[in-house]
Amino acid sequence: MRFSTRVIHDGQPVDPATGAVAPPIYLSSTFRQRAPNVHQGYVYSRSGNPTRAFLEGALGRLEGGAGALAFSSGLGALATFLESLPSGSRIVSVDDVYGGTWRLFEHHRRQFGLTIDYADLASPAARDAALTAPADVIYVESPTNPLLHLVDLRAIVRRARALGAVAVVDNTFATPALQRPIEAGADVVLHSTTKYLGGHSDVVGGALVVRTPERLERLAWLQNAVGAVPSPFDCYLVVRGIRTLAIRMRAHAESARAVAEVLSAHRKVRTVHYPGLASHPQHALARRQMDGFGGIVSADLATTAAGVRRFLRGLAIFTLAESLGAVESLVDHPASMTHASVPRREREAHGISDGLLRFSCGIEDPADLAADVRLALAKV
Ligand SMILES: *Cc1c(COP(=O)(O)O)cnc(C)c1O
Repeated sequence: MRFSTRVIHDGQPVDPATGAVAPPIYLSSTFRQRAPNVHQGYVYSRSGNPTRAFLEGALGRLEGGAGALAFSSGLGALATFLESLPSGSRIVSVDDVYGGTWRLFEHHRRQFGLTIDYADLASPAARDAALTAPADVIYVESPTNPLLHLVDLRAIVRRARALGAVAVVDNTFATPALQRPIEAGADVVLHSTTKYLGGHSDVVGGALVVRTPERLERLAWLQNAVGAVPSPFDCYLVVRGIRTLAIRMRAHAESARAVAEVLSAHRKVRTVHYPGLASHPQHALARRQMDGFGGIVSADLATTAAGVRRFLRGLAIFTLAESLGAVESLVDHPASMTHASVPRREREAHGISDGLLRFSCGIEDPADLAADVRLALAKV
């Protein structure tokens, strides 16, 4: 089966009890036992729930892992993964990591003595220099947020194997529609299902997809022990989102290309970051590693803070809001919104200037989105 078919059928059986073609939402928090500890596979919904199992089955298949575990948020998934590390572990993380991931890493550094080193893992030279000392985890996003740098996943997996480290890939931006890190050898894939997998800005959720049954079992134990689990209704919403993932990702990419082209052609725009542009420094890697270039574009406006505000007020279709990956187009000002928790000095060192904007291009008509950005640029 090809991907567009698999998002609807793979790991998504028709309900054997009733024939329902949409997954039933099992709200029950507990399940009858015929005799003590004699049950039908479900005991208590923190430990396991049929609607959650449906989501986990579908996502595990799409990413090609031994299985998946669903969580109440992307950060809930990350926190549970971090619980699996022995104290004193060393993580080497890509430097322009998601702001909330950075905040949680720093918390673990202070509270639990994890060592976390950040490196520009998108640059082969910096990557090879950073990945010589022993490490327990290599943590990457690709494309990164908000600058759309790409990390060579196969090269990272090679280094991880050589160091005996666990390779973790946050695949939120690409989704399995565009990139499947476990096929490249990654050990754990993390998702904020809040974004493209949910796809409609109406659910907060997360997931871990795990390559081997042994690590899956350990993380499933922690999923139950920590308890950061999603509600059955939220699981249903993510499944519903996954069913249109393939067609939405194609539409997102078409919108993003139209927006990237308008931005690239404008004199008030300093730089445009989009892996689909031939001018992107890692365009060749994007072609090799991804099945499409995604829906996120960021751009550095050559203007003052007041000019950025005029631009944002001039947008009619793009809504100013955090988050990304849904049907409607959103725009974010990382320096004051999603990345405000990163100190200014580090933000600027990583290239997140006060003029940087991140566009999550929705599935509206690409021509309307391009016109919206063009008209707002005229107001800068
Ligand atoms: C949103 C996001 C997260 C965090 O997920 P939540 O669902 O908000 O907890 C992690 N990584 C990336 C890349 C994200 O965009």
